[in-house]
Amino acid sequence: MEFLFLGTAASEGWPALFCNCPQCKAAAELGGRNIRTRSQALLDGHILFDFPPDTYKHKLDGALDLSRVDLLLVTHSHSDHLYPNDLATRGAPYGHNFTAPTLHIASGHDALARIERVNGYENNKLSNIVTHELRAYEPFECCGARVIPLPADHLKSEDAFCYAIETNGKHILYLHDTGEVIPDVLDYLAHAGICYDLISFDCCYCVKDNTHLHGHMGLPNVVRLRNKLLASGVCDRHTFCVVNHFSHNIAVTHESMTAAAAREGMLCSYDGMRLEI
Ligand SMILES: [Zn+2]
Ligand SMILES: [Zn+2]
Ligand SMILES: [Zn+2]
Repeated sequence: MEFLFLGTAASEGWPALFCNCPQCKAAAELGGRNIRTRSQALLDGHILFDFPPDTYKHKLDGALDLSRVDLLLVTHSHSDHLYPNDLATRGAPYGHNFTAPTLHIASGHDALARIERVNGYENNKLSNIVTHELRAYEPFECCGARVIPLPADHLKSEDAFCYAIETNGKHILYLHDTGEVIPDVLDYLAHAGICYDLISFDCCYCVKDNTHLHGHMGLPNVVRLRNKLLASGVCDRHTFCVVNHFSHNIAVTHESMTAAAAREGMLCSYDGMRLEI
C-alpha cells in the first residue's frame, strides 16, 4: 500500500505567497525538496487527506487521477486544509467520466459547513458528493476504510480531528494539525491495542520546541509524543514516523530538517514522498 505526501507546508506554503524572509529566499534558491506546498496526502490512490488550494498543483505534479478518490477526510476548516470552491469542479460541466462515481467527504461540523457554503456559489452545484459529519471516537466505515476521528489539540472554536485509519490490514495515524495530543487521545490509543504502520506528525515549528504545547508541534514536542506512543505500544521500531507540515518561520532547510529527524529515528516529509507500507 502506498502513502503519498502531496504537500508538506503549513498554511502559507514555503516559499510563502507574499514573503521575502530569509527562509523563503533560501528555499527558492535551493529549490527541489525545499519547495513545499500546502499539506495533503493520498493513501492507496483513493483516500485523500485534506483539500488545500494546492490540490490542482498536486494533481499536475503527480499525474494523479483524483476522480479515483472516493473518500476525503478533512481535518479542520483552516484554508490550508480545505479550499471548498474547487469541489464544485466535481460536477458537469467541469468534470466527466469519474473513476469513482461518488466522493464521500467526512469531517467535523465546521468544515462541512464551509463546504456547504460553496453550494450554489457562482451557480455551481456540488454534485456526486456525499458528506458525513463525524463525532470524536465514533468509528466511521466507508470505501474499505475504518476511520476513528480523534480530537486534535488545535482549535477551541471547532471540532478539529486527527485520524486513525485502518484499511487493507494497515494502520495509519494522521496527526494534523495538533499540539502534543490531549491525554484522552493518548489513553484511547494506548487501550486500542493497535501498533501503527505509519504516523504523520504535525511539525509546524520545525526543530523548535513549542513551549506552550498547544496548536502545533516542533520536533522536541514530536519526540516527546513519539516516546509516549512507543511506551504504550502505539508504534514500534518498524513504524514509519514522519514529521510533516512545516512553517517557513524557522531557519531550516530540507537537508537540515531531515538530519534532525533522522537523529530521532524519524523521516522528514517532502512534496512527492512515497512510502510503501
Ligand atoms: Zn495547517
Ligand atoms: Zn517566509
Ligand atoms: Zn490548522
